[in-house]
Amino acid sequence: MTDPLIDAHAHFYHAESGRGDWERVNAARMRAGDAIGVTYHVVSVLGSYGHTSPTDVSRGNDVMRAMADADRERVRWYVTVNPNHTAHALDEIARGVASGAVGVKLLASRRADDALNDPICALAEEHGLPILHHIWQHRTREWPNQEISDGRDLARLAARHPRVAFILAHLGGGGDWAHTLPAVVDTPNVYPDLSGSGVDRGMIDTALQVLGAQRLLWACDLTMETGLAKLRALEVVGLPEDDLRAVRWGNAARLFPPGTFPRCVAA
Ligand SMILES: [Zn+2]
Repeated sequence: MTDPLIDAHAHFYHAESGRGDWERVNAARMRAGDAIGVTYHVVSVLGSYGHTSPTDVSRGNDVMRAMADADRERVRWYVTVNPNHTAHALDEIARGVASGAVGVKLLASRRADDALNDPICALAEEHGLPILHHIWQHRTREWPNQEISDGRDLARLAARHPRVAFILAHLGGGGDWAHTLPAVVDTPNVYPDLSGSGVDRGMIDTALQVLGAQRLLWACDLTMETGLAKLRALEVVGLPEDDLRAVRWGNAARLFPPGTFPRCVAA
């Protein structure tokens, strides 16, 4: 039997996500996951980044919870919050935890080191939840309610909350991995995920060299084919078996609350 595999950064669409084929895309993710060998998808539904915030976030979380409840075997979920609405965000986390959320998807509606993120991190710490946060460089136009952040910004936030695990979203997308790796190396509670459409030659080798296998999580985000490419790359770069297991699922099992991935522990 092949080793377990956790996609630590996945998304579902829903009726308000702005695409008519949302159900087909969600189903395609699960089919591809089965083909790739994904044991668990850790999923979030994104809000509108402000157009109807924060009610859109609540509706997305409701949909997300229902989808997770309908597929307990394969789906775990992040409760999504918008840091511009502190009280709402804290309520959503409490509500999410009560209905099974295992992490926080912190929308990048403020720069990563903004003080508005602090109360959210404090509550995540209380519940032992990791926080998924985007970094994003080289932006070519303004995206409403999505602030630019780089690895240094996230490292500053993480340094203020050393007992919270921060998953730095998509090392292979949005940011510049060559900048990100040294920016987070001295902040041990930042864990880049390997998702993103970038499959640059050297990216994975350098990440392993700079951070080591214990700090990296395999993930797909929206492009599962590039997730598969990186999975294959991990298999051929000569990683020791223990390290491969850590990146495939072991690190995720350590960062998320105990009991989140029973089928991995059993394996
Ligand atoms: Zn994402």
